[in-house]
Amino acid sequence: MIFLKTEEEIALMRAANQLVGKTLGEVAKLIKPGVTTNELTRVAEEFIRDNGAEPTFKGYPNQDDVPFPAALCTSVNEMVVHGIPNDEPLKEGDIVSVDCGTLLNGYNGDSAYTFAVGEIAPEVRELLKVTKESLYLGIEQAVAGKRLGDIGFAVQSHCESHGYGVVREFVGHGIGREMHEDPCVPNYGRRGYGTQLKKGMCIAIEPMITLGDRRVYMESDGWSVRTRDHKPAAHFEHTVAVYNGKAEILSTFDYIAEVLGDKEF
Ligand code: MG
Ligand code: MG
Repeated sequence: MIFLKTEEEIALMRAANQLVGKTLGEVAKLIKPGVTTNELTRVAEEFIRDNGAEPTFKGYPNQDDVPFPAALCTSVNEMVVHGIPNDEPLKEGDIVSVDCGTLLNGYNGDSAYTFAVGEIAPEVRELLKVTKESLYLGIEQAVAGKRLGDIGFAVQSHCESHGYGVVREFVGHGIGREMHEDPCVPNYGRRGYGTQLKKGMCIAIEPMITLGDRRVYMESDGWSVRTRDHKPAAHFEHTVAVYNGKAEILSTFDYIAEVLGDKEF
């Protein structure tokens, strides 16, 4: 069932998502060779709690009821999503996808960004740039009257035109009082097909795009998802409201951009 949100609820969703954006900005300050993903999640969790919110991901169960152990998902290089933070230092040339969720005043925020650690290979930088572009192309389609297939088509066609893989096994989602609500929001699709978008829908759009083959597998921890060919993957996510005749982006990368300056692409 899809829950349409009122203007008041969208305001609460925006607050939760702005906090996610600020948290990702705090993470951006720390990204450099030598930092561990455990340090990133420690700082993020403290920041979220200091701002009166809960880190939604911590304790979130998978299909086998295994709780996710941290506030952030940190997915390095060939890891696509749901990486568990650890004590391994990031190295120059790595990429790390950081996904963050908060629960603030009963509503959820969810956003993700793939960071470069120092200088990265040009082909990987291009993957990040194109994946982020595809997110905004998908968001442009998130207006009342369009369909989920329009969003998926926009993401898929842009990424595939660059020869990249579009992950099928994981998709975006409705979001509100629950982090994952109906509908599923695939990053692939056919124009004019799928659920029609209505005023008040809130969805997380989150392209998960691979440099090589699109196929992925899950590790035995029940969380970490890697590319089968071990090539890198990128993940960018915004929470968006279908409202006022345009897609309103409730989350933000502005705090990241402030930190990265001209290194932002
Ligand atoms: Mg997310
Ligand atoms: Mg999400």
